[in-house]
Amino acid sequence: MEKVLLRRVPEYNPEFIRKIITEGMDELGIEKTTRENITIKPNVVLAHHKLAPSAFTRPEFLDGLLMSLQKLQGPNSKVTITEKSGTGLPTSRMFRRAGYRRLKNLHGIKLLPLEEDKKSRIPLSKGTVHETITTGTSIADNDFLVYAPKLKSNVLSHGLTAALKLNIGILLDRERMWNHNFKLDQKIADLLEVGLPDLVVTDAIEAAVGGNQMTQHGVHLGLIILAKNPVAHDAVCAHILHLDPKKIPYLSIAHLRGYGPLDLSEITIGGDISLEEIQKTTKTWDLGLKKVDQVDTGMKILCGLPYCSGGCHGVFLDWLYMIKDRKPKLWKKLPEWTVVIGKYKGDVCADRLMKIGSCTEIQGKVKARKQVKIKGCPPKHKDLVLFWLLRGRIINPLLRLDLIIDSYFFLFLSWCRRLLSGRL
Ligand code: SF4
Repeated sequence: MEKVLLRRVPEYNPEFIRKIITEGMDELGIEKTTRENITIKPNVVLAHHKLAPSAFTRPEFLDGLLMSLQKLQGPNSKVTITEKSGTGLPTSRMFRRAGYRRLKNLHGIKLLPLEEDKKSRIPLSKGTVHETITTGTSIADNDFLVYAPKLKSNVLSHGLTAALKLNIGILLDRERMWNHNFKLDQKIADLLEVGLPDLVVTDAIEAAVGGNQMTQHGVHLGLIILAKNPVAHDAVCAHILHLDPKKIPYLSIAHLRGYGPLDLSEITIGGDISLEEIQKTTKTWDLGLKKVDQVDTGMKILCGLPYCSGGCHGVFLDWLYMIKDRKPKLWKKLPEWTVVIGKYKGDVCADRLMKIGSCTEIQGKVKARKQVKIKGCPPKHKDLVLFWLLRGRIINPLLRLDLIIDSYFFLFLSWCRRLLSGRL
């Protein structure tokens, strides 16, 4: 039986968080031996005070976690926080925007953007999408790996972002987007071979649900979730969000590969709040989990095959939700485009037609005044943002001067640092 602990934590109080995590580690039977290399992997896919205030593991949470990990450290122990942010932004900027710089000074830890780490190329024996992956040495070589996800909903991954989905952030940009399509579930399961944490401690004090995985709004839940087994952990997280873990394919694949249980009969849930009580709070939460052609906007969306919830279909839904989250007035009056995604069977008659995804084609007659195509399998968020700006005259919430400076100027600086240190 794997154990998952649910603990009440009403607010982001680092001292109280320390106490809860320390008690949890004792209850889970984490040995108190000294670890020389401790790596913590939080979720910092995007951090921005206005645009994405609830997308990342909060610094107060990591403060409490770092204090609780002190009992595993000797005089020579090193603690590293590593991550690779999304949307092509440099992680160093996201660490700063997330408020992690203070932790570096306070705890004497290393903040290491994964792209600036030494790289290790690792063969995977169970991989069906990846035969090898390249990741940072701090992920590949440590003696205690702690995952500190943020509990969020995510339309790209069947409604849930918790411990397993966090592994997308152990990849660099090129491998990250490679097969981020209908194979995303196998891809996530493959990554467990390298990204298999010794401890998962989830920040669910404030969860984030209902929209784009980066820009959606936070909702108070007052909870920390602790487990040694990431699959059992995610199965319980799925139930918290009223999802069936057996219908989340990457969890089922991970279970079939022997990484952990999915059925609650094989999981002991401990702590000081029951799953049923939490579910009463979350039962009215709308995760926004629907097909992209079912969202109600001014656009007409035609879905072809394959339906890639982790690829073009999901990425476009996520792009639409970003507008819903942060520009609700624009969401109500999006310009009338017809959008086709995947191989669509049927005739299309439109004024303006946008085809999204390299494989997209219309198997029928097409009549349109204007036609454009965004390539990629799937296209990057950055490309979608720029394409819709230039071709569709839609200003996405990501188009902010500070993020543009991060995306180009600071990305260039990060690239120079990597070049000079030989870690490109
Ligand atoms: S290009 Fe085609 S296969 Fe690739 S993510 Fe898009 S819809 Fe899926």
